[in-house]
Amino acid sequence: MKYSKQREMIFRAVQSMKTHPTADEIYTVLRAKHPNISLGTVYRNLNVLSEMGKIKKIRISSGSDRFDFRVDDHYHMICQACGEVIDIEIPELDPVLKRLESEGFDITELNLNLRGICNKCRRKKEEAI
Ligand code: ZN
Ligand code: MN
Repeated sequence: MKYSKQREMIFRAVQSMKTHPTADEIYTVLRAKHPNISLGTVYRNLNVLSEMGKIKKIRISSGSDRFDFRVDDHYHMICQACGEVIDIEIPELDPVLKRLESEGFDITELNLNLRGICNKCRRKKEEAI
């Protein structure tokens, strides 16, 4: 299979997964249909696609990188119990970013991850007590 074809296929897989998958999860989905694809190819193309700005790479200090089909400005809450990655919008941050840019800092990347316990897991915990 051609490089461009593979990249397109991996791009479409990320588009179809709304759960902020890891490279391994994307590989597992693709392998079901395309048994010849390698994990290395998936990794490499995910990195190329994120460098191209077609997908977003979310670096997670406590585990594997996740990949996001959304490339517009948004942030993430990561549940340390179930691992779910939840999108959050923080429009209140916009004026702060604008101010920093007006002060001369050209922001090229912004990662903001909050780690904690999601609503579902918090409720489960409370019920268990
Ligand atoms: Zn959770
Ligand atoms: Mn997201």
